[in-house]
Amino acid sequence: MNVNRERIMQRIDAFAGFNDNDDGGISRFSYGRADADARAWLMQICRELKLQVTVDPVGNIRACYEGVDSSLMPVLVGSHIDSVRNGGKYDGIVGVVGAMEVLTVMRENNCLPRRSVELIIFAEEEGSNFGTTMVGSKTLIGKLSADDLRHLHTEDKRTCLEILEKSGLDPGKMKDFVLKPGDIEAMLELHIEQGIVLEQEKKRLGVVQAIAGMTTMEVTVCGTSNHAGATPMYLRNDPMSAAAVLIEDIEDIAANHVLESTVATVGSISCRPNMPNVIPGEVTFTIDIRDIEQDAIEKTVAQITSCAEKISQERKVMIRFRTIGSSKPIRLSPRIMDTVKRAVSSCSDSWMVMNSGAVHDAAMMASITDVGMIFVPSVGGKSHNPEEYTDPSDIALGCQALLLAVTELCV
Ligand SMILES: [Zn+2]
Repeated sequence: MNVNRERIMQRIDAFAGFNDNDDGGISRFSYGRADADARAWLMQICRELKLQVTVDPVGNIRACYEGVDSSLMPVLVGSHIDSVRNGGKYDGIVGVVGAMEVLTVMRENNCLPRRSVELIIFAEEEGSNFGTTMVGSKTLIGKLSADDLRHLHTEDKRTCLEILEKSGLDPGKMKDFVLKPGDIEAMLELHIEQGIVLEQEKKRLGVVQAIAGMTTMEVTVCGTSNHAGATPMYLRNDPMSAAAVLIEDIEDIAANHVLESTVATVGSISCRPNMPNVIPGEVTFTIDIRDIEQDAIEKTVAQITSCAEKISQERKVMIRFRTIGSSKPIRLSPRIMDTVKRAVSSCSDSWMVMNSGAVHDAAMMASITDVGMIFVPSVGGKSHNPEEYTDPSDIALGCQALLLAVTELCV
């Protein structure tokens, strides 16, 4: 059985046509107009393929290709169709179209698998509406309850619950849809890498072995605000200079003192009063620390806080840390990795085992089932912007590997 590259690219282009903005790239938020149109189009194709379609109360879609033995657990395959604002046309979509292609090819070949195979589309993966990522998959595994959804809201204060109800969904019924260990045989997700490793290593496919965990912290440095002209240098407690030294230390710690896989980023910074002629009184910035080893994340945090203590004493400023979010690293199932390795190596010699720096729905699903992921290269490592691109021949190769992996697991 072979995938059809032309059909794959046509479907990717068709998804790109469902777009809420024409100001560059793709803006398709879950529960918006373009999302609704894209879902209707996708579900129509599923029905033509004679799949049984269900939509759960947060909007996750499951479309089942029935297997011969209904007593066996199904294999799930899929990704997400929502995007960030002004994002690219491949993030999520490659995995969704890949899964659609797997089921299309199986139907064309009158495939009769022992296990059912289900296309799964996770809702609200990007966190574009509520600032929280993977709301669909988190709810599906019971990590978020209907009550939690009440507390999620958009920038303009509409709650998640309100938006779901407006879309005709009934979140109160979610408990009937929550998946537990023992419900699903395995889950596979094909995704663009969103990084530059495959391109640098000149490989066309990646077999993911671990998904990085992450800790996000907010750091507040408090000093003494004063006149920029009248305060001599030796009499200052300048939180901006202290923050600058600490930020340089953060880079040095992640680059040289933990693991090669450790990354740390200061991506957001603000100060008060933020005036050219005033020594600031307070500087606040964030640190995003990621690694595939939890221990390395903790070591990085410990080294950063000890540097902060030193700076705080030397410069007579106060430095406070607050954790604003964290997730643990995830090791993907060795059993499914073996299946995926067999699949990729029978399609191409150009593949490697690698880690994912970005978090995916598959990481959530790993708490209830065995999960595998296949990466295809992102040209220039670019993602979450309109320049996102993956070569069609690499996409088709990823889809072919996905087809082989799914069929091995369900036959
Ligand atoms: Zn994605």
